[in-house]
Amino acid sequence: MVVVEDCLFCKIINGSIPSTKVYEKNNVVGFKDIHPDAPTHLLFVHKNHTQDLNDVCSKDPKGLLELITAITQFSEEKGLKDFGYRVVTNIGRSSGQSVFHTHFHILSGSNLGKFGT
Ligand code: AMP
Ligand code: ZN
Repeated sequence: MVVVEDCLFCKIINGSIPSTKVYEKNNVVGFKDIHPDAPTHLLFVHKNHTQDLNDVCSKDPKGLLELITAITQFSEEKGLKDFGYRVVTNIGRSSGQSVFHTHFHILSGSNLGKFGT
């Protein structure tokens, strides 16, 4: 398991920075985004540190599948799938990525607008 000492989300995963966790099973953790953009705004991460979607896809495809599977199972258990939800991942600074530990935003709870440009 790769853990990066100065990575914000590695610190949230190991509990040294507090967060509101909503999910923890096997190697996947879900927690509330500190600046929510929707009534439900969660972040899902894998414990194995990678930088972004391209990085996880090449270095840890099994971890990526584990992460996506956790999200879909959570969405079914918590009713997000029935309501409708959006999964977003930013890749690179110009997309808005600010934390370089692969994460998926889960947005739900209201009628979401079209994507920002
Ligand atoms: P991104 O900009 O796509 O890299 O997403 C990073 C997200 O992390 C942003 O939506 C931030 O609001 C969120 N964030 C930053 N610090 C924290 C924190 N300490 N706890 C929870 N979410 C955070
Ligand atoms: Zn990390």
